[in-house]
Amino acid sequence: MSLFDRIRRAFTGEDPVVKETTQEKEETPIVLETYDKGMEKTRKSFAERINSLFTTFRELDETFYEDLEEAFIGADVGFDMTLALTDAIRDEIEERGIHKPEEVKQVIIEKMVRIYEKDGGDQLASLNENPDGPTVILFVGVNGVGKTTSVGKLGYQLKQQGHKVLMAAADTFRAGATEQLEVWGERLDIPVVTGKAQGDPAAVVYDAVKQANDEDYDYVLVDTAGRLQTKINLMDELAKIKRIIEKNNPNGTQEVLLVLDATTGQNALIQAEQFNQATEITGLVLTKLDGTAKGGVILGIRHNLNIPVKYIGLGETAEDFQLFDPQEYMYNLVRDVIEVQ
Ligand code: GDP
Repeated sequence: MSLFDRIRRAFTGEDPVVKETTQEKEETPIVLETYDKGMEKTRKSFAERINSLFTTFRELDETFYEDLEEAFIGADVGFDMTLALTDAIRDEIEERGIHKPEEVKQVIIEKMVRIYEKDGGDQLASLNENPDGPTVILFVGVNGVGKTTSVGKLGYQLKQQGHKVLMAAADTFRAGATEQLEVWGERLDIPVVTGKAQGDPAAVVYDAVKQANDEDYDYVLVDTAGRLQTKINLMDELAKIKRIIEKNNPNGTQEVLLVLDATTGQNALIQAEQFNQATEITGLVLTKLDGTAKGGVILGIRHNLNIPVKYIGLGETAEDFQLFDPQEYMYNLVRDVIEVQ
């Protein structure tokens, strides 16, 4: 069933949300519980904003649409996306001659959900795989966003699935980054290729990809440095790393994942735009969704950049990392708006 159908049925009472959540929880307990818990702050704050619009609801005048825009901005969906959404909502309401608060709410959610259904964006994310040789995944992003942690978490998950995983500590610049990855490696029993502090990151990557080919590893997860301030530096460094990978791996790099910290809201969007100009980003990892009410930023990212969110971080443990499931995300974002009626 499509996400929109699920939500529509919840509205009409055909299939109450609570019942459906319980049913699915039995099938896939971990995913749903993690989204449920990890998105609590975003969900509560978004529902509060939207529902408060309706406690004072009188008519669909300019003030209503301005307040609606504020609710979207407050959830950090971004300026462009806010305007696009509000316009679409207004058009639909006027076209259908809608007046009742519950129907207005339904249009708001319908428009948000439709954005994700467009162009297959509602599909569960997946990794690009190398059909012939190890799959090489580069993690890029500024310091502190959660790159090293995400490398460890993904390493854990791939290993759990039975894959042979190698990690490369190519962030030779941030003090402690190599040690931090080594701790993950020890804990998870995953080997970590390291280099000298302040040494050439490309040399670490070279060693790692060579070892992966020689010893038949399935995945190489590369933690890169986040200190490259200028776009030229960044471009040069990443181009060099990619060239080095191609020497040992004819199919090159399968994924360049940009790691973004959801708690920074619109800054994350700006970083995504900048990195995307410097290199071809194949997917996003949005960390710390559990620590923010700004989880709406995913909508803005989708609207402004055509880059899929591949993973989300919903907590600090290795399990709190999920392949991005747009249906679960949207469902958890709008769920409380429906339930509080
Ligand atoms: P890096 O500089 O990009 O490599 O960032 P780190 O991997 O060192 O992470 C910075 C901090 O963010 C650490 O304290 C992590 O535990 C924390 N962190 C990373 N991902 C998440 C997440 O999904 N949720 C929460 N709550 N904390 C996270």
